[in-house]
Amino acid sequence: MATTFKEYRAGDLGFLKQLNRAAVIDVIRHEPGVSRSEIAARAGLTKPTVSAVVQELLDHGWLAEGELQQGGGGRPGRALHLNEHTHALIGAEVGVHGLRAVACTLNGTIIHALSSTSAPGTPAATSEQLANLITQLLRAPQVTGRSLLGLGVAVPGPVAFTEARVLSAPNLGWRDVPFLDLLRPHLHDLDGPWLLENEAKAAAFGEFFFHKYNAPDSLAYISLGTGIGSGFIQSGSPPSILRGAHGLASEIGHTVLQPGGPYCHCGNRGCAETLTSSWSIRAALNISEDLPLADALVPRLNEPAVHLTLKRAGEALGMLLLNVHHTFNPAKIVIGGSLTRLGEPLLQPALDYFGTHHNRLLSAQREVPIRVIPDSLFLPARGAAAQVLANVVHTTGAIQ
Ligand SMILES: [Zn+2]
Repeated sequence: MATTFKEYRAGDLGFLKQLNRAAVIDVIRHEPGVSRSEIAARAGLTKPTVSAVVQELLDHGWLAEGELQQGGGGRPGRALHLNEHTHALIGAEVGVHGLRAVACTLNGTIIHALSSTSAPGTPAATSEQLANLITQLLRAPQVTGRSLLGLGVAVPGPVAFTEARVLSAPNLGWRDVPFLDLLRPHLHDLDGPWLLENEAKAAAFGEFFFHKYNAPDSLAYISLGTGIGSGFIQSGSPPSILRGAHGLASEIGHTVLQPGGPYCHCGNRGCAETLTSSWSIRAALNISEDLPLADALVPRLNEPAVHLTLKRAGEALGMLLLNVHHTFNPAKIVIGGSLTRLGEPLLQPALDYFGTHHNRLLSAQREVPIRVIPDSLFLPARGAAAQVLANVVHTTGAIQ
């Protein structure tokens, strides 16, 4: 299920105004520097409507005017951008091995980021630790003085989005946790929408929503970390996140690649995670949890056992990419997560497998761009912040 919306009756002027505002912001988000008349043409709105909406957004500090632009034969118009200096979106992540918090501008630029490497404990203790990190973030000089639009929190497991509940986080041992309810008493002053999201879905949304120029029609993000997750985003206003009936859509780490294979944390056997994840690579090479996997392995990449383990994990990842391609057929695939730090020994076998097999069903070669993001520590938190912006623009309409 996608994000829920308020119900409106026909003729609801407030709703119409919100739609127009969202349409104008969407055009400027995708194409920074457009003029009023270009926005009118792109969004299918009249010029007076666009002028009124732009003026309102300028008055509230959402937009900034730039240079005069010539072109199109008409009168020159001023370039319009989202204002980078007035608002902040707050995003956070409960990771299996640490907590993260970011403050972003309306364009998704991270203006301040904090992380802690202490592993989460109980939900209650974790909520307190995360609140402390967010409080520290809000006190940073880069963030104070900005209008805060809300908070998005990413977690490593499927969530019930509308209830803001972690359904399960197998790698944390959490089950059925109303995490935002635990967090709220520690953060009284942070107004706006609060959202809870699966980490891979959050990262997927951020990569899609903050994409400028030539945005793909759909995008799949693959999260390679302690566990393996993914998120699938389809374009729209707002873009939609595939959730499924129970919040399990895109839980590709638990699709089965090897029937009767090793036991997974979820209780089934032969899940993708048992073949290609941080925990399965640690288990295969007997590496403790105390050290980040990349730190332990990068100095050992020439050892035959390490090379073979990563090659097999890479091939399993390639199968998984192929299954994602045939299940969702995304226009673009983005790969992030801590395992990307292992680089070529893991990723090349995956890309080779995908490259060899992904066009078999088609009569002509089709390119599926795959982008690997090696530094993806803050992507889920930034993506959760993107969801706050989408919620404010498309759902609550609380432009302030
Ligand atoms: Zn599993």
